[in-house]
Amino acid sequence: MADCIFCGIAAGEIPAAVVARTDHALAFEDLNPQAPVHVLVIPTRHVGSAADVDEAGAEVWPAVLGLAVEVARAQGIAESGFRLVINAGAHGGQSVDHLHLHLLGGRPMQWPPG
Ligand code: 5GP
Ligand code: ZN
Repeated sequence: MADCIFCGIAAGEIPAAVVARTDHALAFEDLNPQAPVHVLVIPTRHVGSAADVDEAGAEVWPAVLGLAVEVARAQGIAESGFRLVINAGAHGGQSVDHLHLHLLGGRPMQWPPG
């Protein structure tokens, strides 16, 4: 989608530190990391938010969740533990309107979130 930063990254038009990719998903380092490991996992096709995923497009979930767990293993945080976060919409704190999953780890996480 035009003017979407994450579509630009998926297309290789905007630089990013890519850590893994599959046919349908891409993982790259967050520009402003909140933990020693902070990787974003996106579907390569444009999906605005989690709220936009319907039954017809539900294949997006195994694509992004599967890659996130693979990256957790590859980054060595599968044993120590990690957190997967999806911010959706205004109240969810979503700031980039292309569905993305945050993979966070390398330190203990707080709960509940703010
Ligand atoms: P949200 O608040 O929408 O859940 O998270 C958006 C995330 O994208 C933020 O953690 C922010 O640091 C990250 N981000 C925003 N723009 C860019 C970018 O151009 N490149 C990368 N690698 N991360 C970005
Ligand atoms: Zn997009």
